[in-house]
Amino acid sequence: MGSEPVKPALRTPERSAVLNFSCMHPAIPRLLELQTVDLHIAALRAELESFPKRIQEADLKLTGARNAVAAAREAHTHSLTERKKFELDVQQWKDRAKKYREQSGAVKTNEAYKALQHEITNAEAEVAKAEDRQLEIMMGSEDSERRVKNTEIALKTAEQSIAAERKELHAQYTEKKKVLDAALAERERALAPISEDLRVLYERIAKRHHGVALAEARDGQCRGCGMRVLPHILQQLLQDANGELFRCESCGLILYSLEPIPAPNPETTSGNAASSASSSS
Ligand SMILES: [Zn+2]
Repeated sequence: MGSEPVKPALRTPERSAVLNFSCMHPAIPRLLELQTVDLHIAALRAELESFPKRIQEADLKLTGARNAVAAAREAHTHSLTERKKFELDVQQWKDRAKKYREQSGAVKTNEAYKALQHEITNAEAEVAKAEDRQLEIMMGSEDSERRVKNTEIALKTAEQSIAAERKELHAQYTEKKKVLDAALAERERALAPISEDLRVLYERIAKRHHGVALAEARDGQCRGCGMRVLPHILQQLLQDANGELFRCESCGLILYSLEPIPAPNPETTSGNAASSASSSS
């Protein structure tokens, strides 16, 4: 999660230090500044909008730890129930063996006595089996109890780290919000010297091009769409200081040039790849 604002792909007005803005349409530097601010604002807004999801994702990690505790508790409860059941089994078989032994003193025939002895042996074997099973379950329930404790510790750790993460996210959000407020104020300042007509034009183009209204004409091409810009248009972009704005005929972005003035070539001056910005769009 980068905290740096997204650098706009656009050439920023900083280049005016090297390339002379005075020989281009006077609105271009202002529009470029507005464009830079707007792209920054858009990046900030996108980042701010991602925060609720990031907080939700942090909370989801907690859900996992909570579910682990619930599952461990359930397994432990089940193990305790099983333990109880086998305790009862042991007791029942013990009671039965005791009862047969008491009866064996009162039997009249040899067969009845033998039958009772058989029952007693069987009941004692069942007691032994149930006790073995009971022991197994006791050991198992120690394990499940340990698992409950471990998952509870893991949950506590997760709760602490998520709380810290949430706090950090809130701090970042507040900070970004401040940067956005500053950028919005900067936008007001950038907008002030731009005429109403140009504002409307800029907004209309930007709305159609994901917030971008200007494109540099470089190497004879509109950098917005790759369409060729004819040399005489390139020349006008740099020379026509008080003239018109030119828009790319293909994508409609307002063209500007930061290149040195190209040598005029009379053979290619016929036909227009760019049209005047005042034409309808
Ligand atoms: Zn274009």
